[in-house]
Amino acid sequence: MSEQRTLPAWLDAGAAALAGALPPAPTLDGALPGLARAQALTPLQRLQRLQQSGLSECGGAGEPVHLAWRRFLRGHGPSVLVIDATGFDPRARGAGAVLDRAPWRVAEGVLIALGLRESGKVELRLPAELTGREAAFLNAVDAIRSLAQVADPRRQVEVLRNCRPSCWGERPADDGSRLVHAPETWCRIALLFAGEDGLDASLLTLRRGLEQRGLVELARSGNLRRQVDGWRGGVAEAEQDAVLVFDDGLGGFLPLSEADLSCEPLSLASAGIVPAPSTLVVTAEGVCVVKQARRALYRHWQLSEGEAQPVRSLLARAARLVTEITIGHGEVAHLAALDEVALELAAQGLGAAWPLGSALRHWREQWERHARRESCPEGACLERLAAPCHRTCPANIDIPTFVAHLGNGDHRSTIEVIRRDNPLPLTCGLVCPAPCESACVRGGHDGAVFIRTLKAKAAEHCLAEGGYPRPELAPDSGKRVGVIGAGPAGLTAAYYLRTLGHDVEVHEAQEHAGGMLRYGIPAYRNPPEPFEKEIDQIRVLGVRIFTSSPVASLEEFRKKYDAVFLGPGTQKARLLPVEGAHLPFVLGGIDFLRAARSGEHVRVGPRVVVIGGGNVSIDVALTALRQGATHVDLTSLEKRRDMPASPGEIELAVAEGVQLHPGWGPLRFEEEGVAVFQFCERVKDATGRFDPKFDGSRLLELEADHVILATGQGTDLACLEGSGVETNRGYVVADPRTKMTAVPGVFAGGDGQHGPRTAVEAIRSGKIAAASIDAWLLGKSPDPATGTPVRRAELIPLSVVAGDRSHRRRAAMPERTVEETVGEGNYVRIELGLTDAMAHDEARRCLRCDLCIGCGLCMAACSEMGIEALRMADTTAGRLAYFDFERPAELCIGCGACTQVCPTGAIRLEDGDGVRRTIITGTVVREQPLLACSECGASTQTPAHREFLRRRLPDHMAAQLDRELCPSCARRRADRPAVVGVTHMGQAASAAPVPLGEMGPSVG
Ligand code: SF4
Ligand code: SF4
Ligand code: SF4
Repeated sequence: MSEQRTLPAWLDAGAAALAGALPPAPTLDGALPGLARAQALTPLQRLQRLQQSGLSECGGAGEPVHLAWRRFLRGHGPSVLVIDATGFDPRARGAGAVLDRAPWRVAEGVLIALGLRESGKVELRLPAELTGREAAFLNAVDAIRSLAQVADPRRQVEVLRNCRPSCWGERPADDGSRLVHAPETWCRIALLFAGEDGLDASLLTLRRGLEQRGLVELARSGNLRRQVDGWRGGVAEAEQDAVLVFDDGLGGFLPLSEADLSCEPLSLASAGIVPAPSTLVVTAEGVCVVKQARRALYRHWQLSEGEAQPVRSLLARAARLVTEITIGHGEVAHLAALDEVALELAAQGLGAAWPLGSALRHWREQWERHARRESCPEGACLERLAAPCHRTCPANIDIPTFVAHLGNGDHRSTIEVIRRDNPLPLTCGLVCPAPCESACVRGGHDGAVFIRTLKAKAAEHCLAEGGYPRPELAPDSGKRVGVIGAGPAGLTAAYYLRTLGHDVEVHEAQEHAGGMLRYGIPAYRNPPEPFEKEIDQIRVLGVRIFTSSPVASLEEFRKKYDAVFLGPGTQKARLLPVEGAHLPFVLGGIDFLRAARSGEHVRVGPRVVVIGGGNVSIDVALTALRQGATHVDLTSLEKRRDMPASPGEIELAVAEGVQLHPGWGPLRFEEEGVAVFQFCERVKDATGRFDPKFDGSRLLELEADHVILATGQGTDLACLEGSGVETNRGYVVADPRTKMTAVPGVFAGGDGQHGPRTAVEAIRSGKIAAASIDAWLLGKSPDPATGTPVRRAELIPLSVVAGDRSHRRRAAMPERTVEETVGEGNYVRIELGLTDAMAHDEARRCLRCDLCIGCGLCMAACSEMGIEALRMADTTAGRLAYFDFERPAELCIGCGACTQVCPTGAIRLEDGDGVRRTIITGTVVREQPLLACSECGASTQTPAHREFLRRRLPDHMAAQLDRELCPSCARRRADRPAVVGVTHMGQAASAAPVPLGEMGPSVG
């Protein structure tokens, strides 16, 4: 049985009253009935009324409201009434909805409390995401002031913007000077005094994993499990153990199977979760709760900025211990330590107790498996992941390594690293949509590293200097492999098969090699001469490419080779099933591009309509402008933000004058040269399946001398006839892992196998197929690492100054102007490429995410010590990263606590010339002098570290610091282990100084 509650009427009634910003009624009784009744009560009677009602705070710890009022009543002196709209989850909608729709009620609640004691001012605390949402409330306050008898017009309302929530679950006892409630709580106070019913509820935003979304009311006396089931719309048996995530994880986690409890704050608190949640996400069973707890703890630690050092240290310790477990450095002792930390957090009233306590309690087995380094349910922990760019590149190029080589000016090593995973660095450097850049952790900060163009830069240098470095070739295997199709997949398979020692021949039906790269991408993006030079870099290894050499029968072809790779590509235009699609002025997009690239005299226009929303449609539109069109309209089913074409490509099209018509689907083409479109209401159904819905009453007519369809391509598989190779919907069927077809020894990849995708995805499939073919030919198992990111080298980071690393923005690509590039027959390159200096500066922006895995341990250790020299930022890539390389310049004391915990050596201390340098992935963030041992003269520690120790040690031990001694001299003197954590710094980066046991990070 569902116990679902809809939204309360007062949220809508409030909205109605707000219209016109007029008071809901002209009299106090009518406008603010709660206040009118409260005015008849003494403060103590109001308190009693609250206590009897059982009303509790909406959000956070869900404290009974009367307790906060009691503290406030006991206070003396000036006071502040606070409307706190901040919350742990910025996607919670409750506070914003209340401020927008029920501002009168919020103001009324505040006015009721104003009568408790002399209150100086009212404060409205808004988080960044609610900036500007104060307007309705301020209007309501102004209007209330006009009812002169209810408020002192001089009383101030101060709006504080960009506020952050507190890290406290239960607010620490204060002097009673502030009365703080969420907007919803103030609202419910007003409703209570007005005599309304149904206040036993709080607003909850349903975010994900539920059929119902958005704002609902959580019935506090209702059963949590039944309410969740109601919002989910019925639960399948297999999903019984879904995970309930409260307040984006900051409010804790609960297995659905344990949710059979009341939603009273005390009941939720006894389950270890936030007593008054604001948002709920339901995730599938099998998520890594340890990883989620780690993220929540870092967020709580971030929220504690400015709190006392013991609080910061405790939160940092919690984050550090959990992180050590997630990176596979955990011990079973970590769990005991975390149990203690969770208790301490709860005892202190810190909100971090919710995620840590609930995760430890309900997922104990998961924690133990992590601590024993056995397994993580998501496979997300316990192993060192490659950098986000490296993982996201479909070819899995080791990007941080090649970027470092480029930054060193070593173009040949750059190309060597790239070609371990992608044999076409120049072409990809010119045409790839660069999914790696979308994953770059710098992306959400000041622009992704310009990875794509760096590949092209190195390639151009090598080609200008005589060619790419020759890869090492395995000894001849004596096996012959035939490749059908010289597109990106075929060329890639041929390249890697040759490096593996096989004799490879490629047969291409077209006049030139290159497939879609040559015939589908216009010359202003991929000019033919350099492209041909790049293909020559494959030929020189001994790969024979036969062009104008179509294969008529796979059966016959197979007889000449030990194995075959099929990479037929998708070079046939697919026409649409639309009335008039057969008319002569309707052309196929890929046919048009091929004809233009082949130098055929194809003239279109002057008015051309292009249909399609992908990158091919943009290429078609821009090519039409170079083949005679003077006006190009481009229509797509998708709205502009949803078009599959890259945003940069769309902008280029607009800059060249292409008129976009997003959201229209073709209805018919008329002989008179008119293309008629109907409005597309939606492209996909709720499950994400392509299922367009049109509104036939809204039509768009466009004049067209030519209509060009860039809506899909097909492949020509006539040669497979009778071969036994299976096809499905016009594509070759192959095992996605091995690329083997149903016929042993015949493999397939590229667009003709997986459907039209990007060139780099075709390269990936060619690389996987080559590894599988090699294994099949030699009777061995395929290398499981193929198709996964593999580090190609362990390069030391570039030395970059802190300011540059922190502030240098992404380079702007120098481009020709539209006037220089548009015009009939003008296929001059649009992008001019970065200069050498720009490319090297760009390489220096890389944060080396292969070395710094963003675990945050260094920052936690530094905070735990109470130094706070390090700050990492949350990134859109879902991990922490250093952008601030300047903060440590002031605060780092060179103690080495960070280097002790860093699992990768990304942060290190280096001593030399009497100076200690703190270095984060190549950037020296602080240099400070070293003291010398008063007996042997060896370097000991920095003055700042010594001062830090002096302040922390009891007097009798601090006195020992008066003489500077290195550990061995101190030991010799005392004939016992050194008392203080002063160590000799060796030259090796790993030889970090050891901080005092009780100060440095430790499990126990
Ligand atoms: S900063 Fe460098 S290593 Fe990190 S994701 Fe971007 S390119 Fe890759
Ligand atoms: S060496 Fe510097 S950054 Fe590292 S823990 Fe010590 S003070 Fe913090
Ligand atoms: S520097 Fe080391 S400890 Fe710090 S976040 Fe990077 S990998 Fe983790």
